[in-house]
Amino acid sequence: VNTFQIDKYLYSMRYSDETLKDIMSRFRREMENGLERDTNPTATVKMLPTFVRSIPDGSEKGDFIALDLGGSNFRILRVKVTRDKKQPVQMESQVYDTPDDIIHGSGNQLFEHVADCLGDFMEKQKIKDKKLPVGFTFSFPCVQSKLDEAVLLTWTKKFKASGVEGMDVVKLLNKAIKKRGDYEADIMAVVNDTVGTMMTCGFDDQRCEVGIIIGTGTNACYMEELRHIDLVEGDEGRMCINTEWGAFGDDGSLEDIRTEFDREIDRGSLNPGKQLFEKMASGMYMGELVRLILVKMAKEGLLFEGRITPELLTRGKIETKHVSAIEKTKEGLKKCMEILTRLGVEPSDEDCLAVQHVCTIVSFRSANLISATLGAILSRLKENKGVARLRTTVGIDGSLYKMHPQYARRLHKTVRRLIPDSDVRFLLSESGSAKGAAMVTAVAYRLTEQARH
Ligand code: BGC
Ligand code: MG
Repeated sequence: VNTFQIDKYLYSMRYSDETLKDIMSRFRREMENGLERDTNPTATVKMLPTFVRSIPDGSEKGDFIALDLGGSNFRILRVKVTRDKKQPVQMESQVYDTPDDIIHGSGNQLFEHVADCLGDFMEKQKIKDKKLPVGFTFSFPCVQSKLDEAVLLTWTKKFKASGVEGMDVVKLLNKAIKKRGDYEADIMAVVNDTVGTMMTCGFDDQRCEVGIIIGTGTNACYMEELRHIDLVEGDEGRMCINTEWGAFGDDGSLEDIRTEFDREIDRGSLNPGKQLFEKMASGMYMGELVRLILVKMAKEGLLFEGRITPELLTRGKIETKHVSAIEKTKEGLKKCMEILTRLGVEPSDEDCLAVQHVCTIVSFRSANLISATLGAILSRLKENKGVARLRTTVGIDGSLYKMHPQYARRLHKTVRRLIPDSDVRFLLSESGSAKGAAMVTAVAYRLTEQARH
């Protein structure tokens, strides 16, 4: 098949600007539902208050630990924040394993594992005798009533440890640390990875007021006017809201654009019926979406002369990193040939071109979907500020955004088209999610120190 025929075959994954604007206004409504008192209890997009009220002002300093759990890696960092103009933030970090039996086992085991890794890290850093302030990036939807309390609503992505939903993760971690008894830690803040990303970028660019993650999962946060947040007292100033946009569509509001492939992904997932937008757009499912499309096309004789192999039929055999490799401008087709050959389908050159085009449609759809939801946030910010032209910075982190060769450019372009009266700066935040937890902790620490003196 040629690319024109594939465009027709996958027409339901290619969106016009009209459709994107429609998705954008649907998401705007979801945001309002989440913010307003009457509609919040049943809202699908949770719009969670984070109790982060200001971005760093540059006067923070200190020695902090940051834990980063829930992204593609579990990391522990030591972050030193100084008032040194040239290099205000210094970091050392270590990645730890989170084996499947731990993330699918009991919650106690999971937090004991986290406490073990933290103990190991402190030992290596020779700080076991200190009680350093800890910032915890926990990349899951949590209800917070203050900075250092976070009740898990539901696991997402690859996690499913028992007995954690409905519990405060700070309490669980403190309990595990106490059980070891060989060191102390003062967990001062729990932040979502989107919030961490926004805070990290905010340290470099005061205009940063949105943070987004496009990685294993996807989500965004932004600074909302307190007077619009019914669930939190007060009318002055702003607070960061964790939108949890991954759950967009869980009430059926995206049914008209979900395809048979999206439904199949959902059925085979750890959390059927949940995170439906995330399943269409994030990195965890992209390779699998491509695989399901290829299987159907092969079955219909449109690819590989109808050859279907056990490998092609195996879940997870095409990963998102493969999609990224296949879409590389220069060596993409060569990579495609290698990847398909490993699946045993004996691809022709024409097959490789076709598969590359399928990848483009799937990853482009993701960028389009995220442009629409981000567009909704930006249009809300613009309205809140009452300006004719929006000038703002969006902090971004996440493996898909960083690794895919075309993704970032497509996203930027589409957002600028959807929100024409704007100057949006996109700022990549390297290790932003984790570093940001230290930033939030640094701000909290500065404020408690100020209160003490
Ligand atoms: C979680 C969010 C998180 C996002 C990116 C989603 O599955 O619900 O809390 O920010 O993944 O890691
Ligand atoms: Mg991360």
